[in-house]
Amino acid sequence: MKIMSIFGTRPEIIRLSRIFSLLDTNFNHIMVNTSQNYTYELNSVFFDELEIRKPDYDLKIRTGKYGPEVSDIITKSEEVLQKEKPDILLILGDTNSGLAAIPAAHHGIKIAHLESGMRSYDFRMPEEKNRIIIDHLSSLLLPYTTYSRENLIRENIHPGKIYVVGNPIIDVINYFTPKIDSSKIMEKMNLEPNSYFLVTAHRSENVDNPETLEKIFTSLQNIGKRFKKRVIYPIHPRTLSKLKKRKVPNNIELIKPLGFFDFSKLEKNAFCLITDSGTVPEEALYFKRPCVTIRESTERPEYIEEGANILAGLDPKNIEEAVKLITLYKVDRAWNKSLGDGKTALRVANILRGKINRLTY
Ligand code: UDP
Repeated sequence: MKIMSIFGTRPEIIRLSRIFSLLDTNFNHIMVNTSQNYTYELNSVFFDELEIRKPDYDLKIRTGKYGPEVSDIITKSEEVLQKEKPDILLILGDTNSGLAAIPAAHHGIKIAHLESGMRSYDFRMPEEKNRIIIDHLSSLLLPYTTYSRENLIRENIHPGKIYVVGNPIIDVINYFTPKIDSSKIMEKMNLEPNSYFLVTAHRSENVDNPETLEKIFTSLQNIGKRFKKRVIYPIHPRTLSKLKKRKVPNNIELIKPLGFFDFSKLEKNAFCLITDSGTVPEEALYFKRPCVTIRESTERPEYIEEGANILAGLDPKNIEEAVKLITLYKVDRAWNKSLGDGKTALRVANILRGKINRLTY
């Protein structure tokens, strides 16, 4: 019985790391890295840090333009799917690498989709279209939360195909807590707890548009001044490529993307996180740090309902006020209900073991 996992971006590699370990021990597991994120800081660093073995295949897909990237993923993943003929293809999330689901479905290979059922109902997002395609081609749907499960049922996906498994990022943070705690990044950057904002922003609907990018930098500049805190921004190569010759306000400290332990240590000690990432609000919730999401929509309303996050949009004044509000009240919130119990990897392995040769639709 064979399981193939196909992945290629930073959040996929991080979230899948503990699941990979269980798949290697308990299944014939073929790992395929598309290298959709191909720089060391967004890909290989996590193999080194998170105890992930060398993948069996590296597809080295063409990246950049949508058409060539997606067609390369489909062509190259079809080749490896036909060669290896796995019983199940495991996909996490909504990246273009997940579109390997298309050739898999074409060849009758069953798909298990982890992180299924997330919906922002914002069709500007490439990820929203990918999620819908992958969910509807999958035989086994593994959402993180009951809210995501309900989204799937609303789209007429049979409830018998769905198991809520919790969020695998918790397994990863729990397992690596000693390494996160022993990171020396605070000393290296001369940072005190609560003395800085930590920023990430890279979503295409934000950074591909020069006006939105301008708003993000204006907000960061104003927030740094108003709250008299440093603004630390490990910048994604996608965003860096959009900056071109743009002058960055001098109170914003752009640094290279960090490894998982250093970045998590900074999250754990930040005054406030400002982000358009999907995973960072989850980690903020885990570390009980205030978080402002700089997006117009979210596929994770659970965190707003928990009181742990403000979905502030992109208006600089509103972002500033959102930071003020979320940091003002020291509430010991039980910010963890929607994250699961940190046993997601085991649950996924159990479900795959039970279903591996019994997926009929
Ligand atoms: N991350 C990291 N180094 C950084 C920035 C982020 O290791 O410099 C981690 C972060 O802890 C989280 C993941 O990368 O686990 C988030 O990835 P990203 O924001 O690229 O993807 P998204 O979650 O939006 O899909």
